Amino acid sequence: MSDLTVFAPLAGWVTPLADVPDAVFAEKMLGDGIAIDPVNDMLCAPCDAVVLTVHEAGHAVTLRSTDGYELICHIGIDTVSLGGQGLTPQVQAGAKVLAGQPLIRFDLDHLVRNAPAVVTPIIVADATLYGVELIAKGLVAVGDPLLRVVPLAGEAVESVAGGETLVQETVVALSHGLHARPAARLVEAVRRHEAKVTLYHGDRHASALSAVGLLGLGLGHGATVRIEASGAQAAAALADVITFLKDATVEETPVEAPEPARAEGPGLGGVPAAPGLAVGPIHRLTRAAIPVETVAGSADEETTKLNDALARVREGLEQAATAGGARGGVMAAHGAMLSDPTLSEAALTAIGRGLSAGVAWQEAIAEQVAILLSSGDRRIAERADDLRDLERHVLAALAGLPIEGPSVPAGAILVAEDLLPSQVAALDAASVAGIALVRGGPTSHAAILAAGMGLPMAVAFGDPLAALEDGRDIILDADRGLIDPDADAEAQADARDTIARRKAEMEAARAAQGPCRTLDGTRIEMFANLGSVADAEVAVREGAEGCGLLRTEFLFLDRATAPTREEQARDYQAIADALGDRPMIVRLLDVGGDKPAPYMDLPVEENPALGLRGIRVSLADPQLLEDQVGAILSVRQPCRIMAPMVASLSELEAVRAVVERQGGKAEVGVMIETPAAAISADILARKADFFSIGTNDLTQYTLAMDRGNAAVAAGVDGLHPAVLRLIGATCDGAARNDTPVGVCGSLAADRLAVPILLGLGVTELSVPPARVAAIKALVGKLDLARCRAAAMQALALPSAPAVRAHVTKMLQEIGA
Ligand code: PEP
Ligand code: MG
Repeated sequence: MSDLTVFAPLAGWVTPLADVPDAVFAEKMLGDGIAIDPVNDMLCAPCDAVVLTVHEAGHAVTLRSTDGYELICHIGIDTVSLGGQGLTPQVQAGAKVLAGQPLIRFDLDHLVRNAPAVVTPIIVADATLYGVELIAKGLVAVGDPLLRVVPLAGEAVESVAGGETLVQETVVALSHGLHARPAARLVEAVRRHEAKVTLYHGDRHASALSAVGLLGLGLGHGATVRIEASGAQAAAALADVITFLKDATVEETPVEAPEPARAEGPGLGGVPAAPGLAVGPIHRLTRAAIPVETVAGSADEETTKLNDALARVREGLEQAATAGGARGGVMAAHGAMLSDPTLSEAALTAIGRGLSAGVAWQEAIAEQVAILLSSGDRRIAERADDLRDLERHVLAALAGLPIEGPSVPAGAILVAEDLLPSQVAALDAASVAGIALVRGGPTSHAAILAAGMGLPMAVAFGDPLAALEDGRDIILDADRGLIDPDADAEAQADARDTIARRKAEMEAARAAQGPCRTLDGTRIEMFANLGSVADAEVAVREGAEGCGLLRTEFLFLDRATAPTREEQARDYQAIADALGDRPMIVRLLDVGGDKPAPYMDLPVEENPALGLRGIRVSLADPQLLEDQVGAILSVRQPCRIMAPMVASLSELEAVRAVVERQGGKAEVGVMIETPAAAISADILARKADFFSIGTNDLTQYTLAMDRGNAAVAAGVDGLHPAVLRLIGATCDGAARNDTPVGVCGSLAADRLAVPILLGLGVTELSVPPARVAAIKALVGKLDLARCRAAAMQALALPSAPAVRAHVTKMLQEIGA
């Protein structure tokens, strides 16, 4: 092989590969070369060559030079996710091109705005065979000599042969198919084994050690691929390849959806997902694979099999949904997902292409999972678990197997890579001590279920948790997202004492029929946040004295059309009936921003948190507001009406006018969720019957940190002194008119926030139903004078962690 001169395919700045912000290129996993930060809009051929592949997203080409060198040109980083926007290929696979000939036109401006980087690596594949010398530096023009490629002495030898050949088929779940980055990672994974692995797709095949060859297969998302492996470690290599291709999370979107920030402290840091403390031995869960029949019968037979399995699973979910509560809610949501025709239609289409029912179902699920994962929103991505859960249930039904929940020894802490919602739902909450996950998300359904079951859970501990051995005794502090893996006998005994004490106090609070009071006898209303009749039933069982926040948008989340006044009236009445004669605060529809309402057709906004949301939506749609107010006023028990996201007095006046026009009588209150409302609380208090502070939104708007953005999650803490000062200002403004102040945001359910809130003047707390007894027990141990002193000190502290440390000490001193 003779030397090759590679000419600059772009005009721009020469950049070392090490500076490319993607390890696949920077660590030369695909090969050696150079990158150019472009200043023009056309990628041209770097040498005379044949085009091997043009990726369907138009962001990358592979070429074989006339001397046989293989090259990859990859425009920008993560540009595959642009789905072809701003990228226009000028050639097709198979074309012969001369150096300097146009390959891909790109919209530089669009790429700069929409991709993490536009720097473009130019790679010579397989760095073990060639040496690459850099010729140019600084600014280059298209066609300037850039690199010289020199063959190294000696050829690489394929070291593996012999043994049985293992064959398996799978479906590619990677959301953007096997493009450059995952191809490089797959090569890395296979290289670790003594095995020869070949991938077959259609009439093409490629060695799993050749990134360019793999790209040449054109494996898109959902493609079926056959894998052949031989050699001493063929089985392990085959398993790795299958796992890799089926793991849609390989394609996570790291830029838009970073991992939640982990807690810092002694031991292992994770993210709190459901509050509580646990101590016990680790019980590690490994998920058993469900066998999938890959040989297909006739399309009719496979369709019948799939329909039967779907019907059986649907029946099981409907049955489970009747349980009510968080578990029933999640099972109902799974039932709705299963009934979504998108899934079954995709699976039936795949059966039509000759796939078995099981493989077709896997393919349909993989497609939807990929869509969720590519959303860039971690909360949406967390819904992928629900689909994986459905995948397992239907595959088990097809295989005639029961789905069993994890069996966990009593008192153990369940440790797993991740947990599906149904696996959490199947746990015996009285016997399992807690849950710690290597991955997982704090807003997943699994986390919501754990919180509803009173199971402490923390997530995202990463590899350090995976490394802890089975049976090791640990302390899990799910309030702070910490694990102490080295707790000695004394620390464990202390933790057990704390758990036992809190449990006894909760039992006592549940049993106590009287109203909630502090130690010194100050009356604090203990309310619950509700979104369904089932919630109301749990809240009453737990000792809630009323509802401080009915999230009415939760009742109508999955609808395609707006609920009628009658439908609303029926639902509100059912919840009021479940509450008996306890008071109920109904919040007007709070949609827009991060809260979807498919039936509303709200405009897509550049800055949704600051756009049409909360009360602004209702005021923009007068009929919607009239209907909702009318429905609330029709409830037999008198309800209070609360407006979300208020920033100005005029919004409150507009709501009051509607109440009067509807001819009803109801107290009208304001949610304090914007700094504007908190600062002008004295003005609002003149016209408001009550305030309820939405600390979730108040925190995000005060700190200018998106409450749903995992990258800033660790900073979004309502105990930040700035937020506390606004809560203080709200209470002061309210006091001038004797307006009562409650808190219905998540600070109300936070043990470390409760003393401060009471100290600032809050007289009502509204918390998730499962937290009612615990918070009621805590309030009973607090002395208001001491809370006031603690609150005054907290306002002068510099940070939320300082406030948390301050209250932790105070609670320790009073034995709470
Ligand atoms: C809040 O913002 O604190 C609140 C209770 O409302 P939501 O969480 O529903 O926005
Ligand atoms: Mg809110």
